[in-house]
Amino acid sequence: MSDLFSLKNKHILITGSTRGIGRLLAQGVAEHGAEVIINGTNQEKAQQVADELNAQGFKAYAVAFDVTDSQAVQQAIDHIEKDIGPIDVLINNAGIQRRHPFCEFPEKDFDDIVKVNQKAVFIVSQAVARYMVKRNRGKIINIGSMQSELGRDTITPYAASKGAVKMLTRGMCVELARYNIQVNGIAPGYFATELTKPLVENKEFSEWLCKRTPAARWGDPKELIGAAVFLSAKASDFVNGHLLFVDGGMLAAV
Ligand code: NDP
Repeated sequence: MSDLFSLKNKHILITGSTRGIGRLLAQGVAEHGAEVIINGTNQEKAQQVADELNAQGFKAYAVAFDVTDSQAVQQAIDHIEKDIGPIDVLINNAGIQRRHPFCEFPEKDFDDIVKVNQKAVFIVSQAVARYMVKRNRGKIINIGSMQSELGRDTITPYAASKGAVKMLTRGMCVELARYNIQVNGIAPGYFATELTKPLVENKEFSEWLCKRTPAARWGDPKELIGAAVFLSAKASDFVNGHLLFVDGGMLAAV
């Protein structure tokens, strides 16, 4: 049972891994033996991250594509499967956020959020799952958000898109479990990245966050690695349709 948490010989595709949470998850799964496929919309940026990992002695590849473009996604998944290796684990991490008061929220921003955060999880998972079904094995991890459980000012469309990710996770679990595919989610609380930059720079928000979170601090993106390794590894073979909150206890507190 010593291989419970080993990711040796596994190919893991992480969407949106050129920076932030995805970048750290790439580092973390590589340190547990995985070969990582780095993705973002820009090939040069993705290649730079792959080069950084390869320079540390890991195996990483760069395959840029826009997760909302179904044709580009299909081409990229076919290319990875044919030229790099079977995708054993898919981590749907790419995501965006826009903040506006509800009555002023532009329709275009709503549509962009739905496309990247919600529809792309369907598009990329479908393209990858078709290969996983043929192999009768695989794992898919959707990065949701603790915001799927809480109403909060200015991010209603974002929270709604993450609610959809929760239900995509449960539905995909039910439909794909018969093919020995586990579909789970990770719901982060607040982590300092490019996406949360306006909040990190807002002293009042940080004070509120520390009061509201039992752990009384921001999360460090590195603290999401354990959940991703667990849900990618043999250790989680009978864990399916679960949403794992990594939020310093925020959701548990009233
Ligand atoms: P960042 O903004 O730091 O990084 C987002 C990543 O997604 C980038 O690599 C970006 O690459 C990529 N991306 C965006 N749009 C696309 C696209 N259309 N196609 C391909 N890649 C794309 O965000 P975080 O690291 O903070 O967030 C990662 C995930 O975690 C998101 O799903 C987010 O909702 C979720 N999350 C984050 C929290 C936090 O506190 N930070 C809390 C809860 C959930 P590019 O260079 O191409 O833009």
